[in-house]
Amino acid sequence: MIIITRPGVTDEELDHIRERIEALGPRTHLIQGEHRTVVLCIGDQQDLANVPMLAIPGVEAVRPVMKPYKLASRQGHEESTEVQIGDSTIGGNALSIIAGPCSVEGLSMLQETARHVKSAGATALRGGAFKPRSSPYAFDGLGEEGLKILSDVRAETGLPVVTEVMDTRQVDLVAEYADVLQIGARNMQNFSLLTEVGRLHRPILLKRGMSAKVADLLLAAEYVMKQGNMNVLLCERGIRTFEDSTRNTFDLAAIPVLKKETHLPVVADPSHAAGRRDLVPALSYAAIAAGADGLIVEVHPNPEMAVSDGDQSLVFDEFDSLMAGLAPFAEAAGRTL
Ligand code: PEP
Ligand code: MN
Repeated sequence: MIIITRPGVTDEELDHIRERIEALGPRTHLIQGEHRTVVLCIGDQQDLANVPMLAIPGVEAVRPVMKPYKLASRQGHEESTEVQIGDSTIGGNALSIIAGPCSVEGLSMLQETARHVKSAGATALRGGAFKPRSSPYAFDGLGEEGLKILSDVRAETGLPVVTEVMDTRQVDLVAEYADVLQIGARNMQNFSLLTEVGRLHRPILLKRGMSAKVADLLLAAEYVMKQGNMNVLLCERGIRTFEDSTRNTFDLAAIPVLKKETHLPVVADPSHAAGRRDLVPALSYAAIAAGADGLIVEVHPNPEMAVSDGDQSLVFDEFDSLMAGLAPFAEAAGRTL
């Protein structure tokens, strides 16, 4: 950490700044410029995390050198992390395509969807059994019955399943069935939930909160990793802005930013970003071109009858053409499908 002192800082103030820092552990080194003096703090930045630096007389500004998300950061962890999901991995050369309905609505619709997306090249099946809904009157999922359906369909198709956990009380139950536990946008800063899933060894798909900065997403991942679970996938799913031609605003730039900042795999969710199915292919291609390691896409046998997110769900034919159209983008990005 670098402390920049104000012009005209006195020797007494400098001594006090150094004493205050060194009392907490780090060593200090003074660099006297022509106009400014800076104090270099050498040691564990965490020791200084709770110090109100600007309240110390003579301090004008503080610049951290290390990222506050030290486990998620690429600093000191150059190699990209590959996370095992079923028989495949995400974060390596091959793209991962997670597809399926927003909600698990029943066995036959999930079977039909899983068989289809698998034949088109999907590597995992999505489907919510516990659904976070903005309205308390909306369908909120089949619960454990939905989890059982997911596990039956996995047994038949071999596709690993991705499903959401909304509450600390559901973590053990969902972990009994899920290959990947999804933390939804509305729960990205539910720190008790992040801590709880951090105790598992199962991969976590962590979606970016609607008004979360990239750094907030990385700090949320850090909560999970701090507990020992390093298998975190980050998901860009659009953020809230003033723009209302799409459900959310797809933050395409967040993908290469995340790829630079972290070694964790990055997945894009074009369905929740767009909120309408006609835009899903374009956003998918853009995400892969920008460096995403995979996609999570909503697909439904009959979107018109879907109990949630029908507007943004692809029919089977549309998913097939999405997959066919993806090939040149994957190739251009140096990835395989
Ligand atoms: C979902 O995946 O169906 C979902 C609710 O996503 P999000 O948390 O991104 O809104
Ligand atoms: Mn959905």
